[in-house]
Amino acid sequence: MMLQIDTMLAVSGLLTVTAALAQAAVGIGTAFARNKREVLFDKSRIERFDALAAAVREREQTDRERNVLSWTGKRKFRIRQRVYENPNFDICSFYLVPHDQGFLPSFRPGQFLRFEATVPGETLPISGIYSLSDSPTKDAHYRVSVKKMGPPADAPEGTPPGRCSNYFHDSLKEGDTIDVYAPSGPFFIDDESERPVVLIAGGVGLTPLVSMITWLVDTESHREVWFFYGVRNRGEHAMYEMLRKLADEHSNIHLVVAYSRPSENCTKGTDYDAEGRITTDLIRSYIDPIKYEFYMCGLPAMTKKIAADLKALGVEDGHISFEAFLPPPPPKKKKSVDGDTISFQIEFKKSKKTLTWTEGDGFLWQFAKENGITIAKGCMSGIDRFCETTILSGEVEYPETKPKDRDPSGSFLPCIATPKTDLVLDC
Ligand SMILES: Cc1cc2nc3c(=O)[nH]c(=O)nc-3n(C[C@H](O)[C@H](O)[C@H](O)COP(=O)(O)OP(=O)(O)OC[C@H]3O[C@@H](n4cnc5c(N)ncnc54)[C@H](O)[C@@H]3O)c2cc1C
Repeated sequence: MMLQIDTMLAVSGLLTVTAALAQAAVGIGTAFARNKREVLFDKSRIERFDALAAAVREREQTDRERNVLSWTGKRKFRIRQRVYENPNFDICSFYLVPHDQGFLPSFRPGQFLRFEATVPGETLPISGIYSLSDSPTKDAHYRVSVKKMGPPADAPEGTPPGRCSNYFHDSLKEGDTIDVYAPSGPFFIDDESERPVVLIAGGVGLTPLVSMITWLVDTESHREVWFFYGVRNRGEHAMYEMLRKLADEHSNIHLVVAYSRPSENCTKGTDYDAEGRITTDLIRSYIDPIKYEFYMCGLPAMTKKIAADLKALGVEDGHISFEAFLPPPPPKKKKSVDGDTISFQIEFKKSKKTLTWTEGDGFLWQFAKENGITIAKGCMSGIDRFCETTILSGEVEYPETKPKDRDPSGSFLPCIATPKTDLVLDC
């Protein structure tokens, strides 16, 4: 099957290139019919056609590599190197190489890897999702940059720290291996667009945007790029030298750093450019947003507010993409028209259970789990589609923050869905 796809892709590539060359040939024929000076003009047209054909070939080659070299299920990767990325030492980059020494498929800048590890003391494997933080042009390794998550500030004493991020920081050493699923994810830069681009990062949300900016630089893109990075202070500021260097060495790359809580040893003008959070007003003090394409990653409150403000300013919906690392907040309670609390009957067909879901029971994944029904656990943010479940009848609804890709008909993502009607689910 893979061979057939490969052959079809090769044939379609050949046809496209042949068409481009045929057009070039038409150019040549016409040119010979004219005088010598015109032939010189047509020579430059042929060169342009050659360049076009080469670009088509290159793009198809990348697409083919993405499809054919990718893998299904888990693949072992070795940690080749660990590098701390900020003065607080709580963001660490992990450089990964395939343990089988095989090829690395390319990916789209902005996509993520999903990891799984068996950890002593845990009955089920732990899993985590981390955005690829380097350009796909670096074809010898993948890189992810992981923030070590402590318990939330308001959590009761004894609350455990984040499992996967702490496993990465405290247990994964250089030379160790870990199971990795192939790159995926719906948040990536449009690599065919020529529009100027704005990248907006909040905290560790810089990782997919760093992949985008390094890819733009590595491919010598002439697109104007503005990178707005909001972080608390110099201690949390990640990839400081790398980002400054990109901006210093490329006239089309502009970096604006905002510190929300600068400390005494943070220097304005050197460490950061503005005090406060990234807002549309800050962005507008540098550029007119209307002609740009926007990619954002940070806390949902930040991305949602900036997206709404940009739309109000007239930026088209299709030019705004965002991703959040956190799950959306649980759904708010609504009342029906007659004031009753809304409830629905949920039939879990394979589990042979019919239960009443009432508002306050949260998303359907949580509701199922609390009633002893197991659905695969993924990112809990509606991004990696690991929990995708077949819906036999009825309708569900999602929060506004649901990523844009559509559900294939007949399935849905229980980690961020609530019922809209009574449901029959195939689990
Ligand atoms: C598409 C995507 C891309 C991502 N990319 C990155 C990236 O590039 N870099 C990055 O660092 N992260 C990234 N993330 C976030 C990452 O996937 C994890 O969510 C993050 O590392 C936390 O996972 P964990 O297993 O360490 O924490 P978890 O074990 O899931 O815990 C999360 C938090 O809950 C707290 N907690 C645990 N138990 C309790 C309890 N009983 N009561 C109250 N609180 C509790 C923990 O202390 C912790 O603060 C991404 C997420 C998504 C969806």
